[in-house]
Amino acid sequence: MRLVKGAYKEPADIAFPDKADIDANFVSLMKILLPSGIYHAIATHDPKMIAATKEFASAKGIGKEKFEFQMLYGIRTDLQRELIGEGYRLRVYIPFGTDWFPYFMRRLAERPANLTFFLRNLFR
Ligand SMILES: Cc1cc2nc3c(=O)[nH]c(=O)nc-3n(C[C@H](O)[C@H](O)[C@H](O)COP(=O)(O)OP(=O)(O)OC[C@H]3O[C@@H](n4cnc5c(N)ncnc54)[C@H](O)[C@@H]3O)c2cc1C
Repeated sequence: MRLVKGAYKEPADIAFPDKADIDANFVSLMKILLPSGIYHAIATHDPKMIAATKEFASAKGIGKEKFEFQMLYGIRTDLQRELIGEGYRLRVYIPFGTDWFPYFMRRLAERPANLTFFLRNLFR
C-alpha cells in the first residue's frame, strides 16, 4: 500500500481540509501500516512525515528493509540522497511515454503551486 497525502482538493465531508489534520492523519496511518508486517510505501516529500516514520520504525524495531519511501522524480532530490545514504529504501516515481504533455498539464492543473515549484527548480 502506498500512503500519500493526496494531490487533489476534496470537499471537507470526505477529506481533511487543514494541513495540520492531514499531517496528523498521515502519521496515524503510517503507525498502523508499518507494524502490520506487510511491505508498505511511505510516499512523501515532507521532512516531518519522514522524520516521524524513521523515529517510529526505529522505536518499534522495524527494519529499513520492511518498508520504503517513495518520492516523485526531481522533487527533493537532496532528501532522496540523504535517505539512501542512511540505508533506507527509496523508490522514485517517473512518468514516461509519449503522453507526457497531457500528464504534465493535468499535474499542473491539479496543483497550481506546481507551476512555481517547477520554475523554481528549473533554475536551481
Ligand atoms: C510516488 C507517489 C505517488 C503518488 N500518487 C498519488 C496519487 O495517485 N494520487 C494523489 O492524490 N496523490 C498522489 N501522490 C501525492 C502527491 O503527489 C503529493 O506528493 C502530495 O499531495 C504532497 O504531499 P507531501 O507528502 O509531499 O507533503 P507536502 O507537505 O504537501 O509537501 C512537502 C513539500 O514537497 C514538495 N512537493 C510535494 N508534492 C509535490 C508535487 N506534486 N509537485 C511538486 N512539489 C511537491 C513541495 O516542496 C512541498 O512543500 C503521490 C506521491 C508520490 C510520492
